[in-house]
Amino acid sequence: MQQQQQVTACNFCGTHLAPDEVLYTPDARVACAACSAKVDLVATDMRVGGNIRNGAIYSIIAAAISFVFNPFLLFTISSSVSAIYALASVNRKGDERFTQHIQRDKGMIYACSIIALVINAIVVVIVALAFAALRNRTHHEYIYQ
Ligand SMILES: [Zn+2]
Repeated sequence: MQQQQQVTACNFCGTHLAPDEVLYTPDARVACAACSAKVDLVATDMRVGGNIRNGAIYSIIAAAISFVFNPFLLFTISSSVSAIYALASVNRKGDERFTQHIQRDKGMIYACSIIALVINAIVVVIVALAFAALRNRTHHEYIYQ
Protein backbone atom coordinates (compact mmCIF):
# COMPACT_ATOMS: atom_id res chain seq x y z
CA MET A 1 0.00 0.00 0.00
CA GLN A 2 1.48 3.34 -1.07
CA GLN A 3 1.14 6.31 1.25
CA GLN A 4 0.38 9.65 -0.42
CA GLN A 5 2.47 11.86 1.91
CA GLN A 6 5.88 10.33 1.16
CA VAL A 7 8.67 12.86 0.85
CA THR A 8 11.39 10.66 -0.63
CA ALA A 9 11.49 10.35 -4.41
CA CYS A 10 13.86 8.53 -6.73
CA ASN A 11 16.46 11.02 -8.03
CA PHE A 12 16.30 9.45 -11.48
CA CYS A 13 12.69 8.61 -12.35
CA GLY A 14 10.89 10.60 -9.65
CA THR A 15 8.97 7.64 -8.28
CA HIS A 16 7.92 8.19 -4.70
CA LEU A 17 9.51 5.70 -2.38
CA ALA A 18 8.48 4.19 0.91
CA PRO A 19 11.28 4.32 3.50
CA ASP A 20 12.06 0.63 3.00
CA GLU A 21 12.28 1.11 -0.80
CA VAL A 22 14.98 3.79 -0.64
CA LEU A 23 18.32 2.76 -2.08
CA TYR A 24 21.45 4.86 -2.48
CA THR A 25 23.80 5.03 -5.43
CA PRO A 26 27.61 5.07 -4.88
CA ASP A 27 27.47 8.88 -5.12
CA ALA A 28 24.79 8.97 -2.38
CA ARG A 29 21.78 9.82 -4.53
CA VAL A 30 18.39 8.32 -3.73
CA ALA A 31 17.23 5.67 -6.19
CA CYS A 32 14.44 3.16 -6.52
CA ALA A 33 15.37 -0.49 -7.05
CA ALA A 34 15.04 -0.26 -10.86
CA CYS A 35 17.14 2.90 -11.15
CA SER A 36 19.73 1.58 -8.71
CA ALA A 37 20.14 -1.48 -10.95
CA LYS A 38 20.53 0.82 -13.98
CA VAL A 39 23.20 2.85 -12.19
CA ASP A 40 25.05 -0.40 -11.48
CA LEU A 41 24.89 -1.26 -15.18
CA VAL A 42 26.26 2.14 -16.12
CA ALA A 43 29.10 1.66 -13.65
CA THR A 44 29.86 -1.68 -15.33
CA ASP A 45 29.68 -0.07 -18.79
CA MET A 46 32.09 2.62 -17.65
CA ARG A 47 34.51 -0.09 -16.49
CA VAL A 48 34.32 -1.74 -19.92
CA GLY A 49 34.94 1.66 -21.51
CA GLY A 50 37.88 2.07 -19.16
CA ASN A 51 39.25 -1.29 -20.29
CA ILE A 52 39.24 -0.08 -23.90
CA ARG A 53 41.15 3.04 -22.86
CA ASN A 54 43.56 0.98 -20.74
CA GLY A 55 44.10 -1.36 -23.71
CA ALA A 56 45.25 1.59 -25.82
CA ILE A 57 47.52 2.88 -23.06
CA TYR A 58 48.94 -0.59 -22.44
CA SER A 59 49.60 -1.10 -26.15
CA ILE A 60 51.84 1.96 -26.42
CA ILE A 61 53.68 1.19 -23.16
CA ALA A 62 54.27 -2.41 -24.29
CA ALA A 63 55.42 -1.16 -27.70
CA ALA A 64 57.93 1.14 -25.99
CA ILE A 65 59.15 -1.69 -23.74
CA SER A 66 59.52 -3.97 -26.79
CA PHE A 67 62.47 -1.85 -27.98
CA VAL A 68 64.55 -2.74 -24.93
CA PHE A 69 63.04 -6.00 -23.67
CA ASN A 70 61.08 -8.26 -25.97
CA PRO A 71 61.54 -12.00 -25.31
CA PHE A 72 59.84 -14.04 -28.08
CA LEU A 73 58.21 -10.80 -29.31
CA LEU A 74 56.03 -11.05 -26.22
CA PHE A 75 55.55 -7.30 -25.84
CA THR A 76 55.09 -6.79 -29.57
CA ILE A 77 52.36 -9.43 -29.62
CA SER A 78 50.56 -8.29 -26.46
CA SER A 79 50.86 -4.66 -27.58
CA SER A 80 49.32 -5.47 -30.97
CA VAL A 81 46.50 -7.47 -29.39
CA SER A 82 45.67 -4.60 -27.04
CA ALA A 83 45.90 -1.97 -29.78
CA ILE A 84 43.65 -3.95 -32.11
CA TYR A 85 41.20 -4.60 -29.26
CA ALA A 86 41.09 -0.88 -28.47
CA LEU A 87 40.71 0.16 -32.11
CA ALA A 88 38.05 -2.48 -32.80
CA SER A 89 36.12 -1.68 -29.62
CA VAL A 90 36.19 2.10 -29.63
CA ASN A 91 33.85 2.46 -32.60
CA ARG A 92 32.05 -0.88 -32.67
CA LYS A 93 28.39 -0.54 -33.56
CA GLY A 94 26.10 -1.61 -30.75
CA ASP A 95 28.73 -0.94 -28.09
CA GLU A 96 27.80 2.70 -27.64
CA ARG A 97 26.76 1.93 -24.08
CA PHE A 98 30.44 1.29 -23.35
CA THR A 99 32.08 3.77 -25.70
CA GLN A 100 29.85 6.73 -24.76
CA HIS A 101 31.88 6.93 -21.56
CA ILE A 102 35.18 7.32 -23.40
CA GLN A 103 34.11 9.75 -26.15
CA ARG A 104 36.59 12.41 -25.07
CA ASP A 105 39.40 9.80 -24.91
CA LYS A 106 38.81 8.58 -28.46
CA GLY A 107 41.57 10.72 -29.99
CA MET A 108 44.03 9.49 -27.39
CA ILE A 109 42.88 5.87 -27.87
CA TYR A 110 43.37 6.13 -31.66
CA ALA A 111 46.75 7.85 -31.30
CA CYS A 112 48.13 5.36 -28.75
CA SER A 113 46.85 2.29 -30.62
CA ILE A 114 47.98 3.42 -34.08
CA ILE A 115 51.43 4.56 -32.88
CA ALA A 116 51.77 1.25 -31.00
CA LEU A 117 50.89 -0.72 -34.16
CA VAL A 118 53.40 1.30 -36.21
CA ILE A 119 56.12 0.67 -33.61
CA ASN A 120 55.21 -3.03 -33.54
CA ALA A 121 55.40 -3.22 -37.35
CA ILE A 122 58.85 -1.59 -37.26
CA VAL A 123 60.00 -4.02 -34.54
CA VAL A 124 58.73 -7.01 -36.55
CA VAL A 125 60.54 -5.75 -39.67
CA ILE A 126 63.78 -5.24 -37.69
CA VAL A 127 63.51 -8.74 -36.18
CA ALA A 128 62.69 -10.25 -39.59
CA LEU A 129 65.68 -8.49 -41.19
CA ALA A 130 67.92 -9.66 -38.35
CA PHE A 131 66.76 -13.25 -38.83
CA ALA A 132 67.15 -12.98 -42.60
CA ALA A 133 70.68 -11.63 -42.18
CA LEU A 134 71.49 -14.38 -39.71
CA ARG A 135 70.11 -17.10 -41.99
CA ASN A 136 71.89 -15.65 -45.00
CA ARG A 137 75.20 -15.70 -43.18
CA THR A 138 74.66 -19.24 -41.91
CA HIS A 139 73.67 -20.36 -45.39
CA HIS A 140 76.69 -18.61 -46.84
CA GLU A 141 79.05 -20.27 -44.36
CA TYR A 142 77.48 -23.65 -45.07
CA ILE A 143 78.11 -23.35 -48.79
CA TYR A 144 81.60 -21.85 -48.68
CA GLN A 145 83.18 -23.44 -45.70
ZN1 LIG B 1 13.80 5.37 -10.10
